[in-house]
Amino acid sequence: MYKVTLIPGDGIGPEITQVVVEIFDKLKAPISWEIVEAGAGAIKKYGTPLPETVLESIKRNKVALKGPITTPVGEGFRSVNVTLREKLDLYANLRPVKSLPEINDKFENIDLVIIRENTECLYKGIEYKIDEDTACAVRVVTKKASERIARFAFDYARNHNRRKVTAVHKANIQKITDGLFLQCIREVSEYFPDIEYEEKIVDNMSMQLVLNPEKFDVIVCPNLYGDILSDLAAGLIGGLGLAPGANIGEEIAVFEAVHGSAPDITGKGIANPIALLRSSVMLLEYLKEENFAKKLELAIENAVADKNILTPDLNGYGTTESLKNKIISLLKI
Ligand code: ATP
Repeated sequence: MYKVTLIPGDGIGPEITQVVVEIFDKLKAPISWEIVEAGAGAIKKYGTPLPETVLESIKRNKVALKGPITTPVGEGFRSVNVTLREKLDLYANLRPVKSLPEINDKFENIDLVIIRENTECLYKGIEYKIDEDTACAVRVVTKKASERIARFAFDYARNHNRRKVTAVHKANIQKITDGLFLQCIREVSEYFPDIEYEEKIVDNMSMQLVLNPEKFDVIVCPNLYGDILSDLAAGLIGGLGLAPGANIGEEIAVFEAVHGSAPDITGKGIANPIALLRSSVMLLEYLKEENFAKKLELAIENAVADKNILTPDLNGYGTTESLKNKIISLLKI
């Protein structure tokens, strides 16, 4: 039995994490949850959105499943998501983008992975004002982090039988920062002659992804471009409700959906749990529980064929509950 930290999170977070808990229970997956609170609820109770007990729990269990946590725009606390990634040194953000053929008639064969550097770039949060009318942000890129994410991307490609790595950059403009990032990826690519390597400028990459997503395999990017491209790629497979993710470090991994807390649909019973469920499939794979992972993945793939039970974001007529029940009914236990 593995103990896994569970953070329900904000907005639709509790609704979709509850679905995962119920489905894992039916699946008889060997997981026991340690539930801890972070986000808006924690601010009221503990005066901080990220109490030390949350970090301690993740460090102890080494694996966590996290619901979305609201990041206030403008004033307020620093993003919990960013702080968690930094404090636990979860340097790689892994975002597989795989189409579910029943859902998307435009692209049926998308199967790519976005690997986003997770600890620096603009997310260092270094911003300041020079005077009343001028604001600056500092973009940080280091050799250490760039080489580390490059090695992660190429190792991932090799270990998952992927054929190509595409590095995304804007080194024509950000010559020093993206220049360093690109140089590190290039150097690491030399050690992987079995993996094809190419480079794309981020604006061109955005267009190529929309026109020919099937052409891409493993995509490695600095933090900001990775954030933007993963939402774009989620759109290609049917929306944020389907896109899973994982934050991975040397010893710790935190699994979460790509989407945010979706305040516009919170409490309406229509949140799509598939992105978090697919993140849970990744969690099971990470724990080498392949058998349970396969069962859950298959049940999700088979469930989406029925429009009557799908949530409205997938143009369905159902609810979180109907989608959950369908998946449970399809689990081959
Ligand atoms: P953040 O800044 O935290 O990333 P965001 O402002 O980008 O959040 P999201 O919370 O991800 O936004 O939501 C974007 C849109 O996608 C919203 O209209 C939301 O309702 C929808 N959405 C996101 N996740 C889901 C989901 N699981 N099910 C259904 N709709 C979703």
